[in-house]
Amino acid sequence: MKKMSERLHTLAEEAASCGTKLLIDAEHLKYQPAIHNLVLELQMQYNAKGRTQRPIIFNTYQCYLKDTTDRVVTDLKRSERYGFHFGAKLVRGAYMVHERARAKELKYPSPIHDTPGDTHRCYDEVVEHLLNHRVQHGPGLEIMIATHNTESIEKAVKLMSKLGLKSSDQSNCSVHFAQLYGMSDNLTFTLGSHGYSAFKYLPYGEVQEVVPYLVRRAQENGDMLGNAGTELSLLKAELKKRSLFA
Ligand SMILES: Cc1cc2nc3c(=O)[nH]c(=O)nc-3n(C[C@H](O)[C@H](O)[C@H](O)COP(=O)(O)OP(=O)(O)OC[C@H]3O[C@@H](n4cnc5c(N)ncnc54)[C@H](O)[C@@H]3O)c2cc1C
Repeated sequence: MKKMSERLHTLAEEAASCGTKLLIDAEHLKYQPAIHNLVLELQMQYNAKGRTQRPIIFNTYQCYLKDTTDRVVTDLKRSERYGFHFGAKLVRGAYMVHERARAKELKYPSPIHDTPGDTHRCYDEVVEHLLNHRVQHGPGLEIMIATHNTESIEKAVKLMSKLGLKSSDQSNCSVHFAQLYGMSDNLTFTLGSHGYSAFKYLPYGEVQEVVPYLVRRAQENGDMLGNAGTELSLLKAELKKRSLFA
């Protein structure tokens, strides 16, 4: 823990000096208490309102967990109490199969929502809660909507427009979108071309470090790869269009 904390502080210092964001991933549930604790320590220091206008450190919330809405509400209140900017990356969560199997093996209730519909509802509710909070309390809070789910993105965009949260004002932008590199370019490019803050998550490192990471992601996200069919047909249509008009 001490070593991890030291390494994170080195990264956080660098991020703060560049004025960029540092997003800490969420992992298997058994590691999350330690991760939340470290992130809180970093947020209290680097997101302090007296030190920065916007959050540097973002925590990640996995909306497939039954307790995520409560956790977000509690963490948001804590950020106000301690005077630091709230920064959150919102995901559905990548370890559903593992978490369910572990709960079954160790005989405790599954921490994962029972149905996909519950997870989707949780995701959209958390986005709504945070955007409403941003409007009521002014700039400071920032979220990253990290998803390939078209419906969630459309809902967020509609809500931003209803609440008057501008997409194009990058200096004051509180809502960012992100997809994994190589996935759902149709969403990232459309968001980007309409002036939304759109990111690609790019694994970076030596080949021997990155390939096992990518294989794990493919295994963990087996369900999600169902979307690949849609993407493939979009790519085919685009290729056809470009070759006909070349
Ligand atoms: C930029 C970025 C960063 C990420 N960082 C992290 C991270 O730090 N930690 C992490 O854990 N993950 C991370 N992820 C992965 C993410 O959690 C998801 O695994 C992945 O993005 C798929 O979810 P989606 O929102 O894109 O949704 P979708 O395209 O909707 O896919 C979700 C799939 O899961 C199924 N599903 C959801 N909930 C349930 C349920 N309760 N029961 C049964 N099936 C269900 C849905 O039916 C669907 O098939 C990240 C993703 C992105 C894009």
